[in-house]
Amino acid sequence: VRRIVVVGASLAGLRAAEELRGQGFDGELVVVGDEPHRPYDRPPLSKQVLAGTWDADHLPLAVAHEGGLDGLDVDWRLGTRATGLDLATRTITLADDDVGVELAFDGLVIATGASPRWLPGCRTDLAAVHTLRTLDDSLAIRAVLDTTPQRVVVVGGGFIGAEVAATCRSRGVDVTLVEMLPVPMGVAVGDEVGTLMADIHRDHGVDVRLGVGVERVDGSDRVERVRLTDGTVLSAALVVIGIGVVPNTAWLDGSGLTVDDGIVCDATGQATSGVFAAGDVARWPSRRYGRSLRIEHWDNAIAMGEHVAQRLLAGSGGSAGSGDDGDVYDPVPWFWSDQYDRKVQLAGVAAGADEMQVVEGSMDERRFVALYRQGDRLAAVLAMNRPRPVVTYRRQIQAGASWSDALATASG
Ligand code: FAD
Ligand code: NAP
Repeated sequence: VRRIVVVGASLAGLRAAEELRGQGFDGELVVVGDEPHRPYDRPPLSKQVLAGTWDADHLPLAVAHEGGLDGLDVDWRLGTRATGLDLATRTITLADDDVGVELAFDGLVIATGASPRWLPGCRTDLAAVHTLRTLDDSLAIRAVLDTTPQRVVVVGGGFIGAEVAATCRSRGVDVTLVEMLPVPMGVAVGDEVGTLMADIHRDHGVDVRLGVGVERVDGSDRVERVRLTDGTVLSAALVVIGIGVVPNTAWLDGSGLTVDDGIVCDATGQATSGVFAAGDVARWPSRRYGRSLRIEHWDNAIAMGEHVAQRLLAGSGGSAGSGDDGDVYDPVPWFWSDQYDRKVQLAGVAAGADEMQVVEGSMDERRFVALYRQGDRLAAVLAMNRPRPVVTYRRQIQAGASWSDALATASG
């Protein structure tokens, strides 16, 4: 392997590049990214950056490698979009003005992440209607918050919606949160905790509207009103749309890679010989959960970026591994979300759990640890403002602990 190309200059792509160098790869390493910025961290975009307490200079992703980012000896192609992949010639095409430029590779890591969905039927030409994924998005939303008399409608009660609503309230802005499902964040944390999160938002003054959608977003040049499907009309100086993301795979159309809501990989993270995917864009069969997963969280982008870098080097003969445990990517997913003074952490997969039990603290105090059961196994642990036990239960999930073992730990 002489030249490895990484497409996507963000968390998964950077961690893959770092790991390649860390494992001793001394060939040519090219990282292609369509944003103009060097790799930066996204979680603060809905939190500190939007709040106005951090600026862009807080965001560059740190590199443990000696010599920092420059020590990685990467040929950065930033502000450059990959537009095609030809597996037969092992080249990718880069958009360079109107002329496509071919770049050959021996190994390829695809870490192109995901892009926000636009609200169906919503005009794209109205000022102050935004999605939030990039630094530029966050600064644009912040600029509206800094200048306009404020009334914000947040569409979508997932992670973006909940965090943006919390940050806007911390700035003293009037916020209405509109979610089509009866419970916000319910898909990720389950209905009981989702209901609690809705209460926490209400207690902080958010007007939470559940089970209702957006019919239209109106205004002349700027957004002025949002009409809901129940006929309510909300005035709005800013609309933030957070209704989920679509994996960035359009550039792979016709390449022969299998794409099905993400790049379909084998259990090692390999899409086809010498081509790997990592982070939000990658889908792989999880042995642990017995189904295919695509995880849209920070920790997974790091772990999978590192994993596929190792597999790429180990399997440079063509196969990513023998299928032994060390070759297989089988993490216990983990994320956190900060809203107001509450920090939620979840390890495992709570979606589809059969039961949830609070084992420490209480939901009334809004400081607790809850365990999720699937069959006779511990499937997930969620902690609100009680971070420490997450480490213990995550280890148990990793080891395949039974539900009764987990409850014994809780009571012991
Ligand atoms: P991305 O970070 O999406 O990076 C992909 C990169 O590839 C982008 O720069 C993109 O522009 C580029 N790209 C796409 N297509 C092409 C192409 N054709 N050619 C070249 N480049 C391309 N997770 C948590 O666990 N906790 C949090 O608190 C949290 N907060 C978040 C807050 C916000 C506002 C957002 C947006 C995400 C948050 N996340 C959080 C999720 C986490 O940031 C993502 O899971 C992580 O960024 C995924 O990393 P990635 O490298 O796979 O993809
Ligand atoms: P998300 O977490 O998937 O939530 C989207 C929410 O919007 C879902 O509840 C969805 O309901 C709802 N929705 C869909 N269509 C709607 C519509 N037309 N009107 C109203 N609601 C609608 O996605 P997100 O909040 O947009 O976040 C984007 C990405 O950033 C995700 O990858 C997320 O993981 C990541 N992120 C993570 C964190 C964190 O981990 N702390 C923080 C911020 C962002 P349905 O389920 O019915 O579609």
